[in-house]
Amino acid sequence: MRRFDDFQRNLNIARNTLTDRLALLIECDLLGKRAYQTRPRRYEYRLTTRGLDSYPYALFLMKWGDQWLPNEGGPPVRLRHKTCNKPLRPSAICAECRREVRAEDISINPLSAKEPAPEDGAQVRYSSRPELYTAGRPTSVGGALAAIGDRWGFFVLWLSFAGITKFDHFHRILGIARTTLTARLDRLVQQGLLDRILYQDRPPRHDYHLTTKGRALCPVLLVLFDWGERGLGTETTDASVLHKSCGERLRLLVVCENCKEVADPHEVEVIMRDGSRKTNTKSPTSSSISLTALTKGGSRRKTVDSDN
Ligand SMILES: [Zn+2]
Ligand SMILES: [Zn+2]
Repeated sequence: MRRFDDFQRNLNIARNTLTDRLALLIECDLLGKRAYQTRPRRYEYRLTTRGLDSYPYALFLMKWGDQWLPNEGGPPVRLRHKTCNKPLRPSAICAECRREVRAEDISINPLSAKEPAPEDGAQVRYSSRPELYTAGRPTSVGGALAAIGDRWGFFVLWLSFAGITKFDHFHRILGIARTTLTARLDRLVQQGLLDRILYQDRPPRHDYHLTTKGRALCPVLLVLFDWGERGLGTETTDASVLHKSCGERLRLLVVCENCKEVADPHEVEVIMRDGSRKTNTKSPTSSSISLTALTKGGSRRKTVDSDN
């Protein structure tokens, strides 16, 4: 999927909203724009290398959404792994020891969560209006993003994975207003990602613990963290995420659960609920998934570019 009208039909959003989102994606170097026709001038949009990098993130968001946010009539989109001809279920493994990475096997240095995500990435991935993620066609990816909420929601979850449970501890590390933190914690509890447990009566004090649903977001957060880090172009030297099973700094590989081969975007076919298939040998078939995730997540901008 590369052309404006295809995106518009599939995402079912207003034309000027789509124009805004595409412009934002180009600005963030996730999408490139190229004229394919001169009279009238028409453009096609392709994922850049950086855009392609966001692909595993979309895969895990989709997997989590399919599992935890049941959709009437089944998942909106299915994936087929061409390599083994089976439905693609992504699995996150450690590049070092090849074992599947689970929340309980990782150790996160809470200080690594102190720095907010790069500004451009944050704009693309999060919105201060989570409902925008699910505007238009409901997707598992959009639903998963809406559950996380915004980048503070992401950091609260990240710290939970690092073992932080107390309000004051979250507050000290994140350095955000108490009301902002309260709102994010409330939202994550409401979404069923965190449990709030009373541990002291007078004055009342609560602990926050990841639920099973929250723990299942582990690969999403790891992939996103990895992407944010690489996007910065700086390889941090201190091991911020350790794989306890092998003691090495965690590097993730995204493989097909069935055949254990790396899930290369070129080897994945997207099957829409209506049965239509999106396959393109030249461009990665991931474009529709990633773009659904990213365009739904983009913040609204005022500029309207008329030449689509
Ligand atoms: Zn390992
Ligand atoms: Zn496979």
